[in-house]
Amino acid sequence: MDRLPLFDTHAHLDTEEFAADRDSLIREIGESMLGFINPGCDVESSRAALKLAHTYPFVFAAVGLHPEDIGHCRREDLQVIEAWARDERVVAIGEIGLDYYNDEESPHEDQRFYLVEQLKMARRLDLPVIIHDREAHADMMDILLSEGKGVRGVLHCFSGDWAMAETMLEAGWYFGFGGTSTFKNDHGVREILKKMPQDRILFETDSPYMAPVPFRGRRNNPLLTARVAEKAAEVRGIPVETMMAIATKNSKILFPKLKIDEKMV
Ligand SMILES: [Zn+2]
Repeated sequence: MDRLPLFDTHAHLDTEEFAADRDSLIREIGESMLGFINPGCDVESSRAALKLAHTYPFVFAAVGLHPEDIGHCRREDLQVIEAWARDERVVAIGEIGLDYYNDEESPHEDQRFYLVEQLKMARRLDLPVIIHDREAHADMMDILLSEGKGVRGVLHCFSGDWAMAETMLEAGWYFGFGGTSTFKNDHGVREILKKMPQDRILFETDSPYMAPVPFRGRRNNPLLTARVAEKAAEVRGIPVETMMAIATKNSKILFPKLKIDEKMV
């Protein structure tokens, strides 16, 4: 079977949900599509992401400290992340950001500290960032437009409104669309997907979370990026393979260290 011109910019294949079939699933992904980026969330998962990226030519790593994991991170971890970020297989700093929903173990002030430090790191290394923003839109925009000024990146699983999208488009940001764009009740994100300039759209799954319809509630995996692309093609009224190639080309532009098959896009 020919591979689809499809790329998943966000999948956590290092997680325990994939313990039983990780290698066979990743091989199937490599035969069916162009690959995926595996972001880390702390030192351990960043190490695991790096290992996957050195095992499979179509798997790329991002390294970073996630806001939900800040509770068990130490300042020295920032130096470990920065050293790993120089690896040729690391295409971004991520997953980093703010989460004011799952914040029992992660005081907001600490989350902001680690976010700002990792934005500075991205600027020093000239790497894009992968941003997680849950119920923290106002602080996120403040930080990205001040301390993050000039840093490039994607707002993964974008959940803001159109006013936020416009502001962040103006500042050069990309937008990650995944399972939520297929959910019956989530009209808002589809409206944004419809209006979004075509050169800022990225596809993602956030596997193992956020499985698209009709797999909602089950384990997600990068092969289901195809469902996201189908929904986007439907919403925007263009052929699905065209939609896939557009989003993959955008991924290559935002993440210059990605080495994916030129002929496909
Ligand atoms: Zn994630």
